[in-house]
Amino acid sequence: MSLLVLKFGGTSVGSPERIKNVAERVLRLRGEGHALIVVVSAMSGETDRLMGLAREIQPRSEGRELDVLLSTGEQVTIALLSMALESRGCPARSYTGGQVRILTDSMHNKARIRSIDDVRIRGDLDAGRVVVVAGFQGVDEEGAITTLGRGGSDTTAVALAAALKADECRIYTDVDGVYTTDPRVVKHARRLERITFEEMLEMASLGSKVLQIRSVEFAGKYNVPLRVLSSFEEGPGTLITTEEGRVEQALVAGIAFTQNEAQLTIQGVPDQPGVAYGILGPIADANIEVDMIVQNIGGDGTTDFTFTVNRNDYEKAMEVLQKVAQGVGARQVSGDTKIAKISVVGVGMRSHAGIASRMFKALAKESINIRMISTSEIKISVVVDEKYMELGVRTLHDTFELEREPAGPSAS
Ligand code: ADP
Ligand code: ASP
Ligand code: MG
Repeated sequence: MSLLVLKFGGTSVGSPERIKNVAERVLRLRGEGHALIVVVSAMSGETDRLMGLAREIQPRSEGRELDVLLSTGEQVTIALLSMALESRGCPARSYTGGQVRILTDSMHNKARIRSIDDVRIRGDLDAGRVVVVAGFQGVDEEGAITTLGRGGSDTTAVALAAALKADECRIYTDVDGVYTTDPRVVKHARRLERITFEEMLEMASLGSKVLQIRSVEFAGKYNVPLRVLSSFEEGPGTLITTEEGRVEQALVAGIAFTQNEAQLTIQGVPDQPGVAYGILGPIADANIEVDMIVQNIGGDGTTDFTFTVNRNDYEKAMEVLQKVAQGVGARQVSGDTKIAKISVVGVGMRSHAGIASRMFKALAKESINIRMISTSEIKISVVVDEKYMELGVRTLHDTFELEREPAGPSAS
């Protein structure tokens, strides 16, 4: 008998009606003879609502008590789904993360899973029960409730699949697979049959929130067969696969974008050894992660330095930078939160030159100014003005003809 881990996201369990639909799907799969573990998110909007409540009490809520609060959203849906299954004659049992004993570190609000105790779950599966597990949460060594960061139910599902050596982990959501880009922005975006772990990891890291980054990392590391598919209609979805399993020969698999970053610039810094460290050292000490970095040489023995950080860290970074500027005698500090990062991703880029120039040409044709560029083996990212984000994504989607099915594997 095969073991499947199914995960249903917030929209898929957003109302009692939808929870009943999930129960029906679970029953169908059980009828086909699969053993099942079902991970659910909170009902759509619930985690945001809880965050809102916390902020009304304490604007900068974080840490232990926030996790106690946020984890309640998933406790509601595991109970409702188990009831729906039981009322249809399907034996089921629900567990919070702590009850399973999904052990995490103690980094509240963004904890990492360390280990999963499979004893209870195995017992239930052996007894023929469907096991329903709350996503997005665990417990630390001290028994404190932890949560795994937004979108963390994906990671719960993949981690369970890895721990129990499931045959497949299926992420049911409100789209019927992974698309060439967010279908909310490009209407003719195309569903991918397959995408490699590496590409999916880049897409997720660069802004495509269809899967939480850590869930993809986990799946790649433990080789968990992972599929994204619709909870509302039948279909094959998208298989996340190793590179050997790649069938499409596209150079570009997809386009990711994000408005999550902000840009900071320090101008007129003396151009001498240690500048970068002098500027970025204090930023790192303040626990702020830097993404892109550009350093320009000025003609007068000074240099300009621009970098991006997460938008949430912008104010903190600006404070640090202003202090640094005084220390090093810089001319000026400026910043901009109205930026967007657009990235094209594809393992096919490794063996093909010219993707970058095609990208830059297409953006130039639309008069979209590129502020920063960064590249790696399988991605090229540009920072542009926020107001050009959607135009940029659509333009690149057309340029790389992503709406068209690429040719199959070549004979060579
Ligand atoms: P869930 O609540 O089921 O976890 P999410 O909202 O987290 O669902 O993820 C699904 C959403 O991800 C889709 O509605 C879609 O707008 C967005 N998305 C972003 N990029 C992509 C992409 N490349 N392919 C598919 N969906 C994407
Ligand atoms: N409910 C959590 C969130 O909204 C976790 C998840 O849905 O994956 O982020
Ligand atoms: Mg999600």
